[in-house]
Amino acid sequence: MDRVIVVGGGLAGVRAVEALRARGHTGALTLVSAERHRPYDRPPLSKAVLAGDTDDTTVDADWDALRCDLLLGERATGLRPGARGGVVTSTAGDLPFDGLVIATGAAPIRLPGDGRQRVLRTIDDARGLRAALTPGARIVIVGAGWIGAEVATAAAHRGCAVTVAEAADTPLAGALGPEAGALTAPWYAEAGVGLRTGVKVAAVEDGGLALADGGRIEADEVVAGIGVRPVLDWLEGSGLLLERGVATDASFRVLTQDGAPRPDIVAVGDCAAWWSGRYGRRLLVEHWDTALNAPETAAATLLGQDAVYDAVPYFWSEQFGRMVQYAGGHTGSERIVHRGDPAGAGWAVAWLTGDRLDAILTVNRPRDLVQARRVIAARTPVDPSALADPGVPVRQA
Ligand code: FAD
Repeated sequence: MDRVIVVGGGLAGVRAVEALRARGHTGALTLVSAERHRPYDRPPLSKAVLAGDTDDTTVDADWDALRCDLLLGERATGLRPGARGGVVTSTAGDLPFDGLVIATGAAPIRLPGDGRQRVLRTIDDARGLRAALTPGARIVIVGAGWIGAEVATAAAHRGCAVTVAEAADTPLAGALGPEAGALTAPWYAEAGVGLRTGVKVAAVEDGGLALADGGRIEADEVVAGIGVRPVLDWLEGSGLLLERGVATDASFRVLTQDGAPRPDIVAVGDCAAWWSGRYGRRLLVEHWDTALNAPETAAATLLGQDAVYDAVPYFWSEQFGRMVQYAGGHTGSERIVHRGDPAGAGWAVAWLTGDRLDAILTVNRPRDLVQARRVIAARTPVDPSALADPGVPVRQA
């Protein structure tokens, strides 16, 4: 393969470059990224960067040794696939390729309205938001999801007057469901953060939020933490199958609209909806662990090597002084088992179907997470009553 183009300079993009070289690609390699920064890590943006503990999260990569041309601050605008290979059109001109990695990630969803709102996706967003987190500033965060909780943590720590407005009845309802999400609600009050649930925002206006019920929340800063959407606009008209993300098979080969996989184009990271044999459906996993590890499989696929990705999804979050971790997938699970007292310092919640462990949420119990992830991956049965006892390791029955 002579020329490989990687579109997107996030973690998935840089990991694809590294994996392509490690797996023997000797031809030309170009990474095109809309951001002017070299690839950097995003998880610290809502943690150490907002806290003021670091200002630089650049991924440690030796670009000279990787022999990769970096086109930073340039955007792919279209894709014209040929019978084999094709052309990426971009703000830097036409980029012909024999192999293509699509890694354009996701972009934050914004609230309606003309008032000023912030989102948190880039290092520039994080630096701008940090400067606004001054003592006493009224910070209103819309969305009590992962990002909303982390921004609230940082803002409260910096002495702001923080309110989190959530449309659902509990925090993390979308990610965890209301029963598990409700267990995190007390953390807000403990941290001095106002949590308002069941709030429907009509619009962001100057100086605050207009609510659907006619009410208003005054704010010096509004931060939207209401989720992300995969960046697919540049692929419209390319003939690729675009669902919630770029549809791929279990080896990250993109599918054309007639459902046929293309061996010369792979998609990976937050923009990819990949087929999971484990779950029997396509997964769109917007988490760091997938962006870190899946490109290894995608690079192997592009180079004609056999590889399938079958990992158990994993995610972590640091909120209100707690390490929160989740592994697995609980869609369709039959029941929840509590492991330890949610009012205590460390506890977990497990989702089960019969005696199969589907997923686990751990709070300050990293060992449980590691053990459970292993059991979930192996699909070995568990004893539910042992699982409910925090004194017993998470293990196969
Ligand atoms: P991205 O990181 O989104 O990178 C995509 C890149 O492509 C971007 O630089 C974008 O500008 C560029 N691009 C887009 N369109 C084009 C185009 N047309 N042409 C060229 N370039 C383009 N995950 C966890 O598991 N735990 C955490 O604690 C956690 N914390 C997070 C905190 C924050 C603030 C954020 C934003 C994310 C967090 N995540 C976390 C999620 C994790 O960072 C993402 O899953 C990961 O960054 C995805 O990497 P990616 O390379 O697929 O996409």
